[in-house]
Amino acid sequence: MTTDNPRAWTVRLIGPAAFLALCGFPGDGAIAQEAPGAPPVVWVLATGGTISGGGASPTSLTEYRAGTFSGEELVAAVPDLARHATIRVEQVANVGSPNITFDDWLTLARRIDEVFDNEPDTAGVVITHGTNTLEETAYFLNLTVRHDRPVVLVGAQRPATAISADGPLNLLNAVRTAASPEARGKGVLVVMNDQVNAARDVTKTSTYRLETFSSRDLGLLGYVDGDRVAFYRAPSRRHTAASEFDLTAVTGFPRVDIVYSYVEANPVVIRALIEDGVDGIVLAGTGAGGMSRRERDTLERVTTLPAGARPIIVRSNRVGSGRVLPRTSDDGLEMVAGDTLNPQKARILLMLALTRTRDLDEIRRIFREY
Ligand code: ASP
Repeated sequence: MTTDNPRAWTVRLIGPAAFLALCGFPGDGAIAQEAPGAPPVVWVLATGGTISGGGASPTSLTEYRAGTFSGEELVAAVPDLARHATIRVEQVANVGSPNITFDDWLTLARRIDEVFDNEPDTAGVVITHGTNTLEETAYFLNLTVRHDRPVVLVGAQRPATAISADGPLNLLNAVRTAASPEARGKGVLVVMNDQVNAARDVTKTSTYRLETFSSRDLGLLGYVDGDRVAFYRAPSRRHTAASEFDLTAVTGFPRVDIVYSYVEANPVVIRALIEDGVDGIVLAGTGAGGMSRRERDTLERVTTLPAGARPIIVRSNRVGSGRVLPRTSDDGLEMVAGDTLNPQKARILLMLALTRTRDLDEIRRIFREY
């Protein structure tokens, strides 16, 4: 039978697991429950993405609609979650992640703090999210959530209706991580493909492959395997409970945009942003934050603007790994070195820094500490 109705495929997804449960199949020997006793509470905040995507058939791997299924439906499709946590679900959005907004970020950060403030028994929070901008939401929350209990972002590379969909196991592993006492104090985490990565360092590296999330040369934090969630390292930069960023009075964010550098890049983009009055520009520079003479000359205009109207310029890179260091040749241009942050994360840190200060030395300190 074929069907155009993705919900019919969900029923098929739920089918085998529910059938085994009804037959009394205990599932032991698959993934053991980590902690004996009553399972801890884990919240699942759903925002959409491929993990909630529905296609016309199990082989529709690239043609599907993100946000077809609700968080409740994703959780219902994985009955084994109940062996690890008491799940509470809330739908925050149901969109493809290119459509995630600053309002969604504020809603998530505030809701997570509210849950942790009011529910001392809640172990952690899982956020289901599209993979395209997952690392941006993760880093924003890493800098703004004020608690040290685990917040875990999870997505999928294949829609929920796909043959061999990766979402159900990713969700199970994310919940196991959020329920794990060892995950506490490690900042916001990204769990996919049985790996745990830190929000600051992780990036999407492949369009379709399941092993897309990587922290490249800084490395992953741990694994989610059949026996347990096993950590080997912890992030050393400031995050969550140790972060200075406070969203209490924030209603919007300073405007920061990203400019990509390449051979004979047209400086009209930089000029337009400066004339438009942006608060910051992140340069996805060549190599270790390099730029052409024309780009440099255009950026130099910034120093002729009155102090309060100057956008802050951060040098990041388009390379994908490695540090961008301060250089004396850039001091005159009042630039900030983006360190190992990729351009989209340097943008988030600059946006948050600008909610507190426009002082260049302070912003440089922030880029050294986060
Ligand atoms: N289009 C999807 C998104 O929402 C991609 C994904 O989730 O993997 O980002």
